[in-house]
Amino acid sequence: MAIQTLIRKYKIPPEDQKLIRDAYEFTKLAHTGQKRVSGDDYIVHPFHIAEHLAEWGMDAVTIAAGLLHDVPENTKYTLDDIRKNFGDEITFLVLGVTKIGRIKLRNQKEPAYIETLRRMVLAMAEDIRVVVIKLADRLHNMQTISVMPREKADRIARETLEIYAPLAARLGMGEIRGQLEDLAFPIVYPREYNQLVAQVRPRLADANKYINVLTHEFSKILKMHGVPTVKIEGRIKHLYSLYQKLQKPEYDMDLGKVYDLVAMRIITDSVEHCYAVLGALHQYFKPIRGRIKDYIAVPKPNGYKSLHTTVFGPEQKFIEIQIRTQEMHEEAEYGIASHWAYTEHGKPKKGVRTDAKKLEWVRQLSDWQKESTERPEEFLENLRIDFFKNRIFVFTPKGDVKDLPEGATSIDFAFAVHTDLGLKCQGAKINGKLAKLDTKLSNGDVVEVLESKSPRVSRDWLAVATTGNARGKIRAYLKQQDQGLLSRITPGFMKGNK
Ligand code: MN
Repeated sequence: MAIQTLIRKYKIPPEDQKLIRDAYEFTKLAHTGQKRVSGDDYIVHPFHIAEHLAEWGMDAVTIAAGLLHDVPENTKYTLDDIRKNFGDEITFLVLGVTKIGRIKLRNQKEPAYIETLRRMVLAMAEDIRVVVIKLADRLHNMQTISVMPREKADRIARETLEIYAPLAARLGMGEIRGQLEDLAFPIVYPREYNQLVAQVRPRLADANKYINVLTHEFSKILKMHGVPTVKIEGRIKHLYSLYQKLQKPEYDMDLGKVYDLVAMRIITDSVEHCYAVLGALHQYFKPIRGRIKDYIAVPKPNGYKSLHTTVFGPEQKFIEIQIRTQEMHEEAEYGIASHWAYTEHGKPKKGVRTDAKKLEWVRQLSDWQKESTERPEEFLENLRIDFFKNRIFVFTPKGDVKDLPEGATSIDFAFAVHTDLGLKCQGAKINGKLAKLDTKLSNGDVVEVLESKSPRVSRDWLAVATTGNARGKIRAYLKQQDQGLLSRITPGFMKGNK
């Protein structure tokens, strides 16, 4: 595909076309004569990255930076050449990608690796587009990994599972995460992959038939109720996420226990109609208690919006259903990337770039790690917990939502609300009941922190707090106390000695 085809296919607005064509020509010239391991001309690689970025709806500056991303590292052209031709913004993005590229997951305790991860977090806080380009780069490298020598492929695939897929998830790019995981899965766990495929294959034909039946039924019902639908689609869950599910004790690697192999999605044209779809379907299919989730009224902290329900479908099967508008759909698939997306009128969305709230967690993360004086291994451990672990959503009594890692306690929650509240925390009510401070919080809990008049921090809290934020602040407070104590004790001690 030529660059012109990309421009047409993704409807790049006229005023941006020249930039993308120029970046393409420059990249092609710079990589002249270079080949990929596959034997392809090198330009194939940056071109695919540009295509992923265009598909995810990124702006022209990001697409151009994606084209140029390997130029300074792999060709005779430097960052200065890029700056002269394309200006500061694109140069900044290319530099960011180059820095992250140096992260290698060889030895996790290796200080260089930790240092680079730290830099990645900082780069992200400055401009999340750097990470989006890096994800496109990794996705194409995974798509072409079969030509790599075994050992290198293994390292790249592991790194993809450990860093890049969770990163995509954390940015709300669920679809990209699924793709990265499914590409890495057969390389990192070949035996488990083959076993799972053997189990899933016989059920695929049935599942596909079932999706067809459901699509037909749903569209009939919604037509009868006069609810417009943009799209009804069904899918079989991603293999790696299925594998992770099966590993939980309640599934015990038995595919027969997974009822929701099939997930349905209904896209409609407005928020009102999302609720109308839910209401209509519930009249025909009984919903399962506790499985109706209204992420439209209460979005997840990463911005995710949709209605979720699980219902009893035909043939006594459970069906998971997601209901959303087209806009919510784009956000759910491409997450943070969709904030830079063009609207259908070909104009970039206004004001979204400065939507700081969406990036609040990135800012917090980079703040505490800048202040953090912890040893590198501890930093990495905290990053693992704060950043990559599954998140739970906990509410203040006023309904504000805080986003915490799984395993977090009321102390973590108190510090997430406010440092002062953390320091003065002396107890907590979880869902209206008094609870111990070390009680692990669950998704959806409402937590009321009981505050004392003065700080109550004790050293034991370090064993109870799990987030880097809380631990850092507890440590800082204790250190300050120790120093204060020392300066008060020392003079008296001297006097007594006289
Ligand atoms: Mn690359």
